[in-house]
Amino acid sequence: RAKDGGRGRVEVYDDDLRRVLAAHAAVEDGLRRALARDELVLHYQPVTDLLTGRVGSVEALVRWQRPGEGLVPPGVFIPVAETSDLICDLGRWALRTSLAQLRAFDAAGGPGAGLKVAVNISGRHLRSPHLVEDVRSALEASGTAPHRLALEITETVMVEDDAAWARLEELRAIGVQIAIDDFGTGYTSFGQLARVPVDVLKIDRSFVDSEDPRTVELVRLVVGAARSFGLRVVAEGVEQVSQVHALQAVGCDTAQGYYFSRPVAADRLPTAVDGCHTRYDATCRFEPTG
Ligand code: C2E
Ligand code: MG
Ligand code: MG
Ligand code: MG
Repeated sequence: RAKDGGRGRVEVYDDDLRRVLAAHAAVEDGLRRALARDELVLHYQPVTDLLTGRVGSVEALVRWQRPGEGLVPPGVFIPVAETSDLICDLGRWALRTSLAQLRAFDAAGGPGAGLKVAVNISGRHLRSPHLVEDVRSALEASGTAPHRLALEITETVMVEDDAAWARLEELRAIGVQIAIDDFGTGYTSFGQLARVPVDVLKIDRSFVDSEDPRTVELVRLVVGAARSFGLRVVAEGVEQVSQVHALQAVGCDTAQGYYFSRPVAADRLPTAVDGCHTRYDATCRFEPTG
């Protein structure tokens, strides 16, 4: 902290900045090539109904099979992709790939047949004028009924944006479901919840994982509000059976998390779905009283 160190510190900062920018550029270049070379892969995580134990849908989650680096998680490259229109290319790819996969699950029969799929869509893609056409053409290319597709949009980008809301309405009119992802981490008020053009509310893991009784009360309130506004609720990040029971007690419809299944590659999905049924029957079966 010497006085003459000021200039030096600025240069160090410049160096750091240069490193960060270079790393960013490397990920962006790599990702662009990854899309072209088919190095991206979707894993699927089942969503289990808490009343019946049925798995009705899966969430598609992207991973990057980077040669020599194994499976890179989305937290590393999605934020980079979101700084340019690359995220829209990725969104288009995820839509097409997951819908093609649904058809393959259907054709194979068994526990993967008839599922719905939820695809994560970035706020940037929602704000672009291409989203509706991208969704339409992906549905057409695969011949999938629109009601089997849900788009997950994080709560933080669900702020009131007339063009974006109109786009969501247009998609809902086609029959596509819209979900608010990571609910509870953003700024949606109960008032907005009554008006947002969505069908599903996904409660963020941070609320599911808390043992604080006030958080449990909050989840109860959110489930109650969602219900009265006609929204279905998914609890994210359920890792323990005690959480399943707490969610059943507050009337939450469905749950997703490591307790039932981690996200798995497509070829392992049927086994994962069977595993969810088994876990549910063994430990979560809901016994209505009275
Ligand atoms: P998200 O949409 O909220 O997805 C849920 C994340 O929670 C996934 O992380 C999933 O693997 C993880 N998770 C599920 N169950 C549990 C659990 O019981 N415990 C814990 N600790 N974690 C659990 P993942 O796959 O690393 O994805 C992270 C985020 O990256 C996603 O959060 C989503 O925002 C984004 N993302 C993933 N795929 C895509 C994509 O195709 N497009 C876009 N735009 N974003 C994506
Ligand atoms: Mg999601
Ligand atoms: Mg989420
Ligand atoms: Mg999340």
